[in-house]
Amino acid sequence: MSQVRPIQWKSTHGANQSFTLSHAISEGLASDGGLYIPDSLPRFDVRDFDGLQSHPEIAEKMLAPFFLGDALAAHLSEICSQAFDFPLVLRPYGKEVQCLELFHGPTAAFKDFGARFLARAMRRLRENFTVLVATSGDTGGAVASAFWKLDGCRAVILFPKGRVSARQQKQLTSWGENVQAFAVDGDFDACQKMVKVCFQDQGLRERLGLTSANSINVGRLLPQCTYYAAASLWHFRKTGQALNLIVPTGNLGNALSAIWARAMGFPIGSVTLATNENRTLSDFAATGLLKPAPTVPTLANAMDVGNPSNLERLLALFPTRDSWMQNQIRVEKVSDASIRTAIKEAQALFGEALCPHTATALHTWLKHQTPNTAIVATAHPAKFESIVEPLLGRSVEIPPALQVVLSRPEHFETISADPAVLSNRL
Ligand SMILES: *Cc1c(COP(=O)(O)O)cnc(C)c1O
Repeated sequence: MSQVRPIQWKSTHGANQSFTLSHAISEGLASDGGLYIPDSLPRFDVRDFDGLQSHPEIAEKMLAPFFLGDALAAHLSEICSQAFDFPLVLRPYGKEVQCLELFHGPTAAFKDFGARFLARAMRRLRENFTVLVATSGDTGGAVASAFWKLDGCRAVILFPKGRVSARQQKQLTSWGENVQAFAVDGDFDACQKMVKVCFQDQGLRERLGLTSANSINVGRLLPQCTYYAAASLWHFRKTGQALNLIVPTGNLGNALSAIWARAMGFPIGSVTLATNENRTLSDFAATGLLKPAPTVPTLANAMDVGNPSNLERLLALFPTRDSWMQNQIRVEKVSDASIRTAIKEAQALFGEALCPHTATALHTWLKHQTPNTAIVATAHPAKFESIVEPLLGRSVEIPPALQVVLSRPEHFETISADPAVLSNRL
């Protein structure tokens, strides 16, 4: 691998200014409102990874060029081993297809990889800080878990009272210590508005060292590239073939990571974005026209996104429909009815339970049955038992890590949907 100068980060809105990785992680969003993208990607050969087998080892090697010359460089090895301390599993489903299971972390969804990495990077960049997030689903749990008991930081999680499932609420509230959860009397938009108002309060921002941990942070995207690097190397060493990926997609963070990994030279073939009925991506792939649409609620609710936040980054790399086609970026839109059918088929064909998000990927695979493919499992089905169990007619076993979270007492306060009340509590 050739690497002569440190990789710099620039904004998708501003061409000329360059920033370090630490700056991009610490700030999250660029000050011009754009998203940070690397000015170049490192280029690897599969042989560069000879002798490296485990996910944390491969991750450290893949990430090293990004950390070269950065304040975090000396910490990279430790961050990888602390963040990726749970299994990454590439498993055959029958003889024809594989499943890349990303749900073996503490909150049983792929967001654990990014949130744990970001927390451990952020802690080494800032002295005392408060992470503030509004959540309607998996992100809040992953962030709460990732920051829990880390010295020098506090995480504050807002969720809409009565609008998350019982198991979801447990994952948001069963932490305590440096993690504070607030049930807000209002909807998700009200929670987001409260967060926004707090961020606009310069005094509060500085006093608390307020920061966010949302999915546009490169400190979440880079660690997600590492599991695609590892899975594609494992598959290539066994078969000599590139691995095609089908990624359940909402805000496009996870799928963009796969596309970045491929651009770094990892043996990845086509990348198919499996979406639910939110059609912005499938319309672009079909017509080349970009028309963000209002969000449609679906069974795969962590993917209910009308205007995918990472699309700007993908378009910076591949700006047209033609370039998507040339680069084997495909989109498959999957209806709720097909999600239900795919959940039943996973059981019938493989004896496996899938979450509704992962079911969009299986539906897509069953349609084309392309060899050398892995569907990406973004969450454990036990997190969505109210959808999955009635379809399967059986209960889904709760994985041990999730069991631990579910058995702990809840800690939260209910507050009104008033930013002033929140800022007083902070
Ligand atoms: C967040 C999430 C997704 C969507 O991931 P993006 O990076 O937003 O595309 C899919 N499935 C599950 C279970 C999620 O939590």
